[in-house]
Amino acid sequence: MKLHNTLTKKVDDFTPLDPASVRVYSCGPTVYNHAHIGNLSAYIYSDILHRTLILIDHSVQRVMNLTDVDDKTIRDSRTKYPDLEPMEALIKFTRHYEGIFLREMCEVGNLVDEVQFERATDNIAEMQRLILKLLREGIAYLADDGIYFSISEYSKTRKYGQLSKIEVAKDREARINNDEYDKDTASDFALWKRLREGEPSWNFWINLREYPESIIHATQLGDWFREARNTNSATVNDSDFLTQKSQEGFTLLSGRPGWHIECSAMSVKNLGQPFDIHTGGVDHIFPHHENEIAQSTAGDQPEKMADFFVHNEFLLVDGRKMAKSDHNFYTLPDIVIKGFDPLDFRMLVLQSHYRNASNFTWENLTAAQNRRRNWRNAAELRWQTTDSDDDGQAEIINNLLDEATQALQNDLDTPAVLMLIDQAVDVLAKDPSNVDHFALNNLIKFIDDNLGLKLAETTPDITDEQKKLIAQRQTARAEKDFAKSDEIRDQLAKQGIEIKDSAVLGPIWSRRS
Ligand code: AMP
Ligand code: ZN
Repeated sequence: MKLHNTLTKKVDDFTPLDPASVRVYSCGPTVYNHAHIGNLSAYIYSDILHRTLILIDHSVQRVMNLTDVDDKTIRDSRTKYPDLEPMEALIKFTRHYEGIFLREMCEVGNLVDEVQFERATDNIAEMQRLILKLLREGIAYLADDGIYFSISEYSKTRKYGQLSKIEVAKDREARINNDEYDKDTASDFALWKRLREGEPSWNFWINLREYPESIIHATQLGDWFREARNTNSATVNDSDFLTQKSQEGFTLLSGRPGWHIECSAMSVKNLGQPFDIHTGGVDHIFPHHENEIAQSTAGDQPEKMADFFVHNEFLLVDGRKMAKSDHNFYTLPDIVIKGFDPLDFRMLVLQSHYRNASNFTWENLTAAQNRRRNWRNAAELRWQTTDSDDDGQAEIINNLLDEATQALQNDLDTPAVLMLIDQAVDVLAKDPSNVDHFALNNLIKFIDDNLGLKLAETTPDITDEQKKLIAQRQTARAEKDFAKSDEIRDQLAKQGIEIKDSAVLGPIWSRRS
């Protein structure tokens, strides 16, 4: 299989590090809102990668994080639930959007049961462990408002910026506390943020005597510690323990993790290091993935976080970046309410290669809907034809599917796959009296397993009642009672069933919606 690797900037041969299982980490959503259609496109592309690995007989272990604590989740959970404790508000708020996210993942046809979802808030201890390691090695330091990753310390032994040509800030300790930033220079970034009034926080005990003195860049650590004693941090309720710890030289640095640390902690915990493939959108290359790599490869950790970094280009709307202020910002419900199926959106996404920007317009979505309808109408022929056992047709379709398999292995070339399937569908549509069921079933299975378009599920047989109506229409036509046959045709049309009369097969039904 060939895959573009942002580390090498070219399409490389992919070979699993361990043939027994391909380990994939996908950066997941921040669960503070409906995912927008750009986010969903990123997960559709990583789903195609997952399915292609399965297609070529790999077993896959894939982890996706759910960011349920960060600047945005905290901000919006406080606004939504001002009367709840900050931690309670955060959990209630993020669980709601987590549920919506998982439902929408299913609706757009992505594998869900086969992905291991990991919440940031369930992995705080892992993150703390990694931060302590970085502190011990002198690569992280304590400042007054949090614990930071030192890019200059890291750069003594490793190169920061493996994916992008990013400049390191000249000021040795230029610091960024925000989770997201669009600066073009790398600065020290927060691994752990000191608690702020009204924010959820977790205990973080550090025995500072065990760490090099050089890690303390703070001037008011005592304040941090005193503040911590007065808050309702997640597990601070045992004051004896607190006193005892303080006597032993422990300092309590209550706070919460920065964004980047969660992926480093959760990937190494679940997949080891290096793992095979890391996925995300191009906006994650810097700072998120550069920072993840730095955290995961600092000190005595392996030199590589992952073998491959695979990044999808952005989905645009009407050729422009999506933005609420530009009124071109859509979520899945915005599409569904206009009568489209989430799978029409999936088809639209697959029409573009993941390394090209895809363009969402209502016209493009209508074209994708039509294409999906064509495919479904071909699949519906399996209910209305007897197996012709046509070797010629089977050979053509199976050859097209072999080519489609090659196209997927060629850096996930979904546009090429879609055109090959169109050809197979044409072969069936042109000669419906001669459908080879084995070939048709192969085609449906290929589409469902590898493209996730749920063709079998969305093309059930019509009901007995509808079959009766079609038979009655035939009788009416035979009796030249055209008023009645038109009336029955209209009745079926209202149920979304269209009838076409063919010379050889007689009436052929197809679903229009
Ligand atoms: P976020 O929740 O912002 O971390 O984004 C979730 C995923 O969606 C990340 O992999 C982003 O890189 C990706 N992403 C964000 N916006 C777009 C877009 N317009 N098109 C494609 N992918 C996007
Ligand atoms: Zn990540």
